[in-house]
Amino acid sequence: MSGPADAGAAVKANAYGLGVIETTRRLQSAGCRDFFVANWREASEIESLVDADTNISVLNGVRPEDMKAATSSRAKPVLNNIEQVKRWSVINRPCDIMINTGMNRLGIDAADLASADVGALSIDIAMSHLASADEDCQQNSDQLNEFISSISAVAAKRFSLANSAGIALGTKYQFDCTRPGLSLYGGVPRNKLSRKIRQVVFPQAQILQVREIKSGGKIGYNAKYEASHDMQVAILAMGYADGYLRGFSNSGLFRYEEGDLPVIGRISMDLIAIDISSAPQLKEGDWASCDYDLVRASKQSGLSQYELLTGLGNRYDRIWV
Ligand SMILES: *Cc1c(COP(=O)(O)O)cnc(C)c1O
Repeated sequence: MSGPADAGAAVKANAYGLGVIETTRRLQSAGCRDFFVANWREASEIESLVDADTNISVLNGVRPEDMKAATSSRAKPVLNNIEQVKRWSVINRPCDIMINTGMNRLGIDAADLASADVGALSIDIAMSHLASADEDCQQNSDQLNEFISSISAVAAKRFSLANSAGIALGTKYQFDCTRPGLSLYGGVPRNKLSRKIRQVVFPQAQILQVREIKSGGKIGYNAKYEASHDMQVAILAMGYADGYLRGFSNSGLFRYEEGDLPVIGRISMDLIAIDISSAPQLKEGDWASCDYDLVRASKQSGLSQYELLTGLGNRYDRIWV
């Protein structure tokens, strides 16, 4: 969907919770040659995995305390302000730059781009970041126009603007390289993409215990569920320590074969109760599938699709199929 532009990949935050090592390996063999991480520790985790012709960009740039790691790394910093530009200009090695086009998060302001320090850099990618690409709004074209006018003063090898949602805004947003993250991992930032993006992450949890609750029986901390009839309940080994946060209390859903198994009561740190009336054959040791369609799970929990992925804890076995 990036057209003639190369598709890079944001693999920061442990590849959005999927596991950065396995994810990077797979994206590399799918042809990805630009990886974006947040900091130098994340860069060091993938440096030895990627081919010599592959770029790693560190989005948070270089603080003074990063200089030692940065100068001994093959990753490039994304320089975000004039202080970082000055710090890097004495190093005489390639970098990327982030230009602020109105998000006002990280980035060099347009007025500073003409400085001699920026002119002296060896810039691979000059990029900016869209604040509202998941919405139809004026800010998208404003940022596009601001980007186009500010890069006329910048000597970079390549230009880049679009994240996942930005790719769906059309060819004008593509430039030389795109930087999807969320959509690589099954996230759907714009409705229009829903038929093109498939779910990637399918959490499952094992049943530790099955029990019968009589009508009027209460479940879990603070008795947030009371049975209106006799029912079969299973307790799963999963909880908010695994990123299944308390917003799923009385609203999340598991499945077994075709049967729906609603979450009942409050999510605990390591345990969840589900109603297994639709699959009464379930027993200790069986596995239930969590409904982790990101759009739906986001509505169930009040969490964003980003939070649903990056929150996935380290107790899961990550099994690639
Ligand atoms: C995280 C990030 C991305 C990826 O964004 P998605 O919305 O996940 O596609 C791209 N660019 C920058 C600068 C980022 O911080």
